[in-house]
Amino acid sequence: MEDYFVAEKTAIKPSPKRLHKECDEDIWILFKGNKAVLFITQGGYRFPRLGDIKRINIEISNIQCIGELKGLNIMCGEVENEIENSEIAYMDLMAIANMGNEFMYTLASKGSLFLNWLKLNKHCGVCGAKNHIKDSYTERALVCPKCGNITWPRTSPAVIVAVTKEDKLLLVYNKQFPERKYSVIAGFVEYGETFEECVKREVYEETGIRVKNIRYFGSQPWPFPNSMMVGFTAEYMEGELRPDGEEILFAGWFSKDEVRQKYRESFSIGSKLIEWFLNNY
Ligand SMILES: [Zn+2]
Repeated sequence: MEDYFVAEKTAIKPSPKRLHKECDEDIWILFKGNKAVLFITQGGYRFPRLGDIKRINIEISNIQCIGELKGLNIMCGEVENEIENSEIAYMDLMAIANMGNEFMYTLASKGSLFLNWLKLNKHCGVCGAKNHIKDSYTERALVCPKCGNITWPRTSPAVIVAVTKEDKLLLVYNKQFPERKYSVIAGFVEYGETFEECVKREVYEETGIRVKNIRYFGSQPWPFPNSMMVGFTAEYMEGELRPDGEEILFAGWFSKDEVRQKYRESFSIGSKLIEWFLNNY
């Protein structure tokens, strides 16, 4: 019953419509406001199944298939009615991320990204008419019935970068994220900018130093609300650390031992970058 938690992420295929015949085992990623609806199990939590939805009468709008797994549809939608049920817990995406189950988090993220996209694009950006979900098995899009304008899901890229200087790593203290304490540098890509240019600019703006040898590391969807973290490593080139004082309150070079004390393991790409430093320096 719970084996989808250990399945490969690549087994999820995007499709706007159901890929398989509807069945009571189909997995439903449901949100009520910004919180996912989860069933409490002995060992933790699970997503609702279609059978649960029928059993306790959950009313759902904005339904779409967001993938398939081992012959089951993975559906998502928004809960319309109030559910009073002791089997159910409500949890936002960050809380799900903090549970440490990457697969569960990935599915919840996909549902959240989809519902957020609908919410922000109820109306056509050209003429203001009400958008409809495109009737298609292959394309996820919203269509304006009046002027034909098509709105596809949009992702806002951001870079995240581990900067090294000899055997030390640059960590910063960001005012916006007090709970994270120290982290590597991250920032949104500007119009018309390459990822590498963004790495150089963000590092310079936030800390006053210049970097070289920028190398791609990996990427991770960041659904808060619709971003994509593109990870890089880079080496110090020149300059003195001079935190901007606005976003970054402190910036410093840390040895492996010092980094270990400040680092909290998670499946975020920021943690993966820090692990890369710990394993390679
Ligand atoms: Zn229109």
